[in-house]
Amino acid sequence: MTLNIGVIGTGAIGREHIRRCSQVLQNARVVALNDINRANCEQVVNELGLKAEIYDNAHDLINSPEVQAILVTSWGPTHEEFVLAAIKAGKAVFCEKPLAVTAQGCMNIVEAEIAAGKKLVQVGFMRPYDSGYRALKTLIDSGEIGEPLMLHCAHRNPEVGDSYTTDMAITDTLIHELDVLRWLLQDDYKSAQVIYPRKTRKASSHLKDPQIVLLETVKGVRIDVEIFVNCEYGYDIQCQVVGESGVANLPEPMSIQTRSAAKLSTGILTDWKKRFIDAYDVELQDFINNVLSGNMTGPSAWDGYAAAVAADACVVAQNNGEIVPITMPARPAFYH
Ligand code: NAP
Repeated sequence: MTLNIGVIGTGAIGREHIRRCSQVLQNARVVALNDINRANCEQVVNELGLKAEIYDNAHDLINSPEVQAILVTSWGPTHEEFVLAAIKAGKAVFCEKPLAVTAQGCMNIVEAEIAAGKKLVQVGFMRPYDSGYRALKTLIDSGEIGEPLMLHCAHRNPEVGDSYTTDMAITDTLIHELDVLRWLLQDDYKSAQVIYPRKTRKASSHLKDPQIVLLETVKGVRIDVEIFVNCEYGYDIQCQVVGESGVANLPEPMSIQTRSAAKLSTGILTDWKKRFIDAYDVELQDFINNVLSGNMTGPSAWDGYAAAVAADACVVAQNNGEIVPITMPARPAFYH
């Protein structure tokens, strides 16, 4: 069986997902597109040779009988409206992060999904699908390094544009760690603090870069995450877990080692799309398979909400310099 997908938002990640649904993944085809800028859809149709209908209104796409499932890859502030509309239409929806721009917005989606009585939402948190993170989780779960005590993490980008603001270090960048570390440790966050090291001269005048986020989990694990978005040298994701009896590191991405000009070297990626390209493929194939089998198992609306609650606290901590408590309500039975 082939799943007919409608895509809202044909910008950078939207195009990537349309390409993978059309050329890489199985049992899916993109039959409908919408973007606030129709020319973006026309360009994608031409570039990929798609046979997809272009809708001028996202709600018409959602409600079209031709569309069985929806990908929301538009600008973040539009996500809540489109996900709620998909739930109302009874259709499965894959929503890129953030699920909504506020925790309350995510909660509105959680409540709508529970009221619908069926899991319909998968959030585009792809790191739990990354083979490196999966290997790290398998190692932790095996007990080989004992209980995790501390995590040292880094999220570094070569550079960001002028429109990138200090709070985006949390809402756009750290949000991936907030999701994947919760999944890795099977734990929730209890508090957050943000401290600012000496600022790099490479950052724009309005941006505080780098930043260090200090998190504490309910089980007492201490996590430090360095966010450094103008590090110049590459797109570099690090995660080290210190346990009671050993230390485990997230594997480095595969890279050819060369001996040349009196140097032993391996490359470092610079493009985020390449770092997690396999994980994006696996997460979307999982969505397609789960919609077809009627059993949604990927990152849920509750995971989107949990990340948003922690992100809100981190943004407060950015501004007040204090240790900010994070209070997560009990997970509803619907999401167990
Ligand atoms: P982008 O290149 O700006 O694309 C967003 C697209 O949505 C643009 O074509 C934009 O049109 C369109 N759009 C805006 N408002 C709309 C509306 N009301 N209805 C329909 N379309 C609308 O951004 P992006 O980098 O693809 O990011 C999109 C989302 O994916 C963001 O939430 C981002 O955080 C997320 N993302 C996730 C990852 C990941 O690793 N999981 C990576 C990248 C992005 P205009 O350009 O004309 O405004």
